[in-house]
Amino acid sequence: MHDHRKLGRELSLFDTDPLIGAGLPYWLPDGAIVRHSLEEYIRTAERRAGYQHVYSPVLGKRELYEISGHWAHYNDDMYPPMDVGGEQVVLRPSVCPHHAVMYRSRSHSYRELPLRMAELGAMYRSELSGVLGGLTRVRCIQLNDAHIFCTLEQVADEATAALALIGSAYQAMGITNARYRLSLPGASGKYVAAPEMWQRATKILSEVLDRSGVPYEAAEGEAAFYGPKIDIQVSDHAGRESTLSTVQVDFHQPEQFDLHYIGADGGKHRPVMVHRSIIGSVERVVAHLIELHGGGFPAWLAPVQVVVLPVSDAQESDAAQLRDHCLSAGLRAQVVPAEAGNLGARVRETRLAPYQFIVGPAEASNGDVAIRLRDGRRLPALAAGDAIACIRALIQANDTRLWAD
Ligand SMILES: [Zn+2]
Repeated sequence: MHDHRKLGRELSLFDTDPLIGAGLPYWLPDGAIVRHSLEEYIRTAERRAGYQHVYSPVLGKRELYEISGHWAHYNDDMYPPMDVGGEQVVLRPSVCPHHAVMYRSRSHSYRELPLRMAELGAMYRSELSGVLGGLTRVRCIQLNDAHIFCTLEQVADEATAALALIGSAYQAMGITNARYRLSLPGASGKYVAAPEMWQRATKILSEVLDRSGVPYEAAEGEAAFYGPKIDIQVSDHAGRESTLSTVQVDFHQPEQFDLHYIGADGGKHRPVMVHRSIIGSVERVVAHLIELHGGGFPAWLAPVQVVVLPVSDAQESDAAQLRDHCLSAGLRAQVVPAEAGNLGARVRETRLAPYQFIVGPAEASNGDVAIRLRDGRRLPALAAGDAIACIRALIQANDTRLWAD
């Protein structure tokens, strides 16, 4: 495995600057394309699965986190409050309290449940400067977050559906080495005390895992302060394990924020909150993808999908036409001209691109293209329009195969 910090800099995906600060990476154009593609994937998948997207502010009053329990249980990871006009506001350590308040701002009937509220939102962790680096130890993260407000009876199905979304996303990203963990509370006092609530939530999540058929292990001391969770774990280049995706059952915050819905009986009932993240934070998932694929991303994520290589100057205008054809089909394409070096050197230089279109005199005169795939396979000359249509179909389907045989 590669070190994402080194490769991220070499491939100009992201970087940091002491003047901006440690743990505050910025995304360069190629990294921004990878991130944008992931965000687009997740928003589409969520929309199809019945989620509604919202935006909420990255700041909140201290009181908001006192009610949610973060202030008492999560204070070590929070930034100190800022005094603004006689009020104390903090950079949010999580999105949940905002969503709970947004749910509460309108009345809800049982017919609206499960209500799935999603946001790709920023949150802030006051990590110590000694441990900061790359995209994995950062002070600001963009989380693919969602909160499902539902009845107790709906929790298992919602958690199961979230696991299925995670499975599809991992397949599309080419992640095959993830491990499932049931994260339970430990002995320390950082968890909210409500034994009956913990037992109920743990039972639901174990049943969901059993039913899904994935192997998992239980780990004490890894739960959220408000409830147990299913965590999906990956390892980095140094073998350090971290959580990418998560599904959590929470009875605590609905209680704290006094959330309710009107039931079929006309009475008020308390919803349950399922917190879930499909791809985790964009920082962590991109770090993992860089290390896993060594910069050779699945085609739908690749900064450049098609590199067009004219064999000599004589094919330059055919190459430019081919690139334009790719661009108008929605592919990310560029020409690397003959003046940049001999063909062999250009093939090596652009080897991380999933597709290399080689245009020699024969191809140019027929409107054909000779394709070299990133894995080294060479395809026989094809009509350019057919080749582009095949590639486009694979990319739109988030298929990790370079070619459909
Ligand atoms: Zn949450």
